[in-house]
Amino acid sequence: MRSDLLALDDDALATLANRGLVKRARKEVDRGDGPSLTADGETVVATFADGTVTTLPPGVALQHAPCSCGASAVCRHRVATVMAARAAGGPETSVQVGLPPLDIDDDALLARLGRRLLTKAERLRDAGVTATVRTTSPPEVLLPTCTVRFLVPWELAHARCDCRDGVDCAHTALAVWALRAADLGLAESVVSLGTAGASDADLLARLEALEADVLAHGWTGAVDALVGRVEALEAEAGHAGLVWLADLLATLREAVGRYTAGHRAADAHSVGALVGELGLRARTPPGPALPRAWLHGEGRMERTSLDHTVLRGIGARVRPDGDTTVLQVFLRDGDARDALVLMRRHDGAPDGEALARRRLLGSTVATVCTGNITTRAASRLPNRAVEVGGQTSRQTAVLPDGGASLERAARPLAEVREELAGRVPSALGPRIRASRVVLTAFTEVR
Ligand SMILES: [Zn+2]
Ligand SMILES: [Zn+2]
Repeated sequence: MRSDLLALDDDALATLANRGLVKRARKEVDRGDGPSLTADGETVVATFADGTVTTLPPGVALQHAPCSCGASAVCRHRVATVMAARAAGGPETSVQVGLPPLDIDDDALLARLGRRLLTKAERLRDAGVTATVRTTSPPEVLLPTCTVRFLVPWELAHARCDCRDGVDCAHTALAVWALRAADLGLAESVVSLGTAGASDADLLARLEALEADVLAHGWTGAVDALVGRVEALEAEAGHAGLVWLADLLATLREAVGRYTAGHRAADAHSVGALVGELGLRARTPPGPALPRAWLHGEGRMERTSLDHTVLRGIGARVRPDGDTTVLQVFLRDGDARDALVLMRRHDGAPDGEALARRRLLGSTVATVCTGNITTRAASRLPNRAVEVGGQTSRQTAVLPDGGASLERAARPLAEVREELAGRVPSALGPRIRASRVVLTAFTEVR
């Protein structure tokens, strides 16, 4: 029996299809209503009682395996075929799982992805990409905008990405390169691919000069000139792939820009903090404890479309910014560590009750904050800012939730505290919008 099919357990199948489909197929197979299997060489052929025929050739992603039902997504026949194949393999068949695909070379990637996608991946890599490699089972690689899971570590056909393409995308190649560069003895490691900032010195010096000028002369005198200067530096940082510096400069440009737009009470405190952070990031030399990928950022501020996703509202933060109010709604995306942030800005001072009733995503702010958003129209940036569209095309639906999923996701306070204490200060780390938002449950009020 094919070892890749044996390694696709029900959890892996749920990642490739969905829980509901896996449950249905599991019931059928357990009831004895599964398909009858024959083998044609390495290809598994399954025939169902109603005449549906599913074929699983080796090296073909499950969603691309032919099924006579005609479904383009993974259907219950394909899922049931894998289950039946596993059952036929016998319970004592042991499979080695969890080992990353170390032996996948660039020729294998080329054969799998084709020249066009591999070139795209090489271009992304050469611009600089930072990845977090987790040697979990299955191993997963967190890229700036998506996550690749190797459901069957030695078989690229079963690598699954949470971008819209799902399988056989350029991210798969980046993930393989990240695995190759990672220290697999560690549970989690951060690797940098591509250019490692040989020519940043000039830009960094000009960022320091900007900080010095603002500190010496203030920023309210010649705002237009300052905005122009910040904009130019932002474009340059973006072009160099210094994604956190570009993000910081963009935030600074917006804050200063609001002052010129007539918001006379623009928040001087936040401008000061941003300028200070700029100087700190420009002056601190990158090293093992503070890699360049955190301090300056590596990669592009590009939007990634998310595949069909359920985002769970876990609350919101409201704060005044000058004479406006900033609303940040925090959304959990599966088991990802950092929440996604949906941001809105409203005129006037914060008024919680009025804000809670405002319209958001075809629903209200209060419902989104505690509900579930099912969407095919979400996209996110590397800083985990998310935008959700599709309200009119019905690609997005907001459903209220009683909070049970929040309770399940909450972790003990001590654990959360320890984790947060171990992270670098926000002004020196990746500019993830909700990097300090965690879910914990209180047990006692004293
Ligand atoms: Zn089918
Ligand atoms: Zn992808």
